[in-house]
Amino acid sequence: MQTIGYAAQGPDTALAPHVFERRELRAHDVALEVQYCGVCHSDLHTARNDWGWTLYPVVPGHEIVGRVTAVGSAVKRYKVGDKVAVGCMVDSCQECDQCEHGEEQYCREGMTGTYSSPDRVTGEATQGGYSKHLVVREEFVLSVPDGLDLSRVAPLLCAGITTYSPLRTWNVGPGSRVAVVGLGGLGHMAVKLAVGMGAQVTVLGRTDAKAADAKALGAHAFLVSSDEKAMAAAQSSFDLIIDTVPVKHDLNPYLPLLDIDGTLTLVGQIGPLDEPSTVPLVLGRRRVAGSLIGGIRETQEMLDFCAEKNILPECEMIRMDEINEAFERMERSDVRYRFVIDMASLQG
Ligand SMILES: [Zn+2]
Ligand SMILES: [Zn+2]
Repeated sequence: MQTIGYAAQGPDTALAPHVFERRELRAHDVALEVQYCGVCHSDLHTARNDWGWTLYPVVPGHEIVGRVTAVGSAVKRYKVGDKVAVGCMVDSCQECDQCEHGEEQYCREGMTGTYSSPDRVTGEATQGGYSKHLVVREEFVLSVPDGLDLSRVAPLLCAGITTYSPLRTWNVGPGSRVAVVGLGGLGHMAVKLAVGMGAQVTVLGRTDAKAADAKALGAHAFLVSSDEKAMAAAQSSFDLIIDTVPVKHDLNPYLPLLDIDGTLTLVGQIGPLDEPSTVPLVLGRRRVAGSLIGGIRETQEMLDFCAEKNILPECEMIRMDEINEAFERMERSDVRYRFVIDMASLQG
């Protein structure tokens, strides 16, 4: 099937219209018409080959919401017309221990990313959601619960699950003390989800510029990390810190804020950090951890949780042809809090 999307042809080119083929449906495949696609920092990193693994041309986009238009002969879970979503993965080995217990993101053979990843059958590069149509095997398709505003669901598929999974992994619930570092696409979801789980939530910022925003999102407190007195007073006061900062940074101001056995989990930065001191780790059995999106089962659980609690991202809707400007604004953190592309604006 021929479709159209927006692709980068190389690291220095702007995204531009690109006509390409979607594969014929395999027995377990679902075809969908993309209605909305969120804009993630990974889209920008991949378009510019910041991580060195981009396969060009690349159509980014892994926060995808749409309607089923066709299903393969063996598909059981979905039918034409269903509201569905696709996140950061479109395939995995489906056989290893990680896949078996529903953590396909840690597949021993490596998951297949939604874009710029070799297809497990043909070896061709996968292409993402900045396109009219998508074909994905049914195991990697999520069901969008009724009641959620479809135009705001898309960012849940990456920003949502990336923050939901560590909240669940470290057993956040009523009374948990959670801090969130960085109030962007990921951070604002971490706040909403942790509040939804009943936690006491504090946002950390270098200045108090985002204090009002944090409170508006439901946070109970705001801590200014450059205020030494306030930071000293907050020592040993958190069970979990979700660190969403997407660039190299210094963990040392944050580690003493953890209580004994507390965990700081990194979900934004993939790469080097400034050297952390082991003193707060050793003296308080504190942990530094990382976390990558979430499995398919957990992603569905997150969507159902958001429907039950009516939790949705704050979105700014854009047209497909505004994507290059949106990338520039995202780099300046000039978005509250996630761009979502209305794919009806992409003319075929
Ligand atoms: Zn993402
Ligand atoms: Zn596997």
